Amino acid sequence: MQSLRGVQNAKKHLEPPVLAQPDITKPFDVYCDASGSGLGCVLMQEGRVIAYASCQLRKHEVNYPTHDLELLAVVYALKKWRHYLLSNTCHIYTDHKSLKYIFTQPELNMRQRRWLELIKDYDLEVHYHPGKANVVADALSRKAHCNFIEARPTVRVLCCEIGDIEMPTALEAELYNLVLEPTIKDQIIAAQKQDKGMAHIRDEIDDKKKACFKLDEEGVLWFKNRLVVPKDMELRKKILDEAHTSMFTLHPGSNKMYQDLKQKFWWTRMKREIAKYVSECDVCQRVKADHLKPAGMLQPLAVPAWKWEDIHMDFIVGLPRTQKGYDSIWVIIDRFTKSAHFIPVKTTYRAKQYAELYISRIVSLHGVPLTITSDRGSFVFVTLPGAITNRSGNQLNSRFGIPSSNERPS
Ligand SMILES: [Zn+2]
Repeated sequence: MQSLRGVQNAKKHLEPPVLAQPDITKPFDVYCDASGSGLGCVLMQEGRVIAYASCQLRKHEVNYPTHDLELLAVVYALKKWRHYLLSNTCHIYTDHKSLKYIFTQPELNMRQRRWLELIKDYDLEVHYHPGKANVVADALSRKAHCNFIEARPTVRVLCCEIGDIEMPTALEAELYNLVLEPTIKDQIIAAQKQDKGMAHIRDEIDDKKKACFKLDEEGVLWFKNRLVVPKDMELRKKILDEAHTSMFTLHPGSNKMYQDLKQKFWWTRMKREIAKYVSECDVCQRVKADHLKPAGMLQPLAVPAWKWEDIHMDFIVGLPRTQKGYDSIWVIIDRFTKSAHFIPVKTTYRAKQYAELYISRIVSLHGVPLTITSDRGSFVFVTLPGAITNRSGNQLNSRFGIPSSNERPS
């Protein structure tokens, strides 16, 4: 019998603590506490724990006075377990005596008034509960919100042995770990030793075929007074990155970069590789230095009043040649209706042929325009009007007006 009781006792100790299920028909007990760093509360019913909750104080909440913090813990618990507490009687236990009289306070600050607005929705009774009895909530409020602390028992034998040695020990010490990376020069020298091309050059130096190269006492290969960089693309990219994108270089152009790098380094096709590197640099592609004079104010074109009186024209060039030999498209757009004609042309056409085309394809359908806008200045404003005039008599001459330039020279 005794052994059976013993087993049951042992069982009780082995059982993990289990939270109770809440019964919403019965009153709840809430234990609240606040510390300088956090809030803690426990929800209980008939002496059994239903839930625990804790949270860290926010930055501004750290500055609250103690009674406000205690009240904040109550508010936190009420908000947290609102679904249980709202329609039930609830006993709040706090270790701050003054909180008991919060409802009878004549003067409250804005914060307390706001909280009381929330508290008065609940059926509450505040009780004073001295700190020592309020252990769990107190512990929860002081919970370290940090996961990196680990405590391990020290090995006693080892401690004793170290004590026996009586070595002078420093009470405090700082440990630094500094990892040194070889500089680019060291990396190049290291790479030289593994490269096959370098071995080939060394052989030729021995045969006195290559006078420009030399080996120093440490076996490092030089081209005149420039360090020879082996064909290690990663290493070369590192050098180029250093010379182009580092904070001290500010994206030089390929010429400048070559002039800088050739003081120290040498490899075959170095200039070409640098030019390629710079042309592929994303930052340089985006930031284009403008060497032109500022263009001045943009001047809008007059709004056209009638169709085919004001037209745009441009050429699409560089197309593959068709069977008939056309390789460009002459685009003529009416600015009013936005309707367009696409006329196949050849880059070898003279002004006379353009004029003939223009008369047969555009003038025959839409009449003579008043203005032409285009970025092909000399063609549209000098050659074409002249050719059209020649083709169709003098009356066209006065009808062409040159619009104000609205496009920047390109
Ligand atoms: Zn760049």
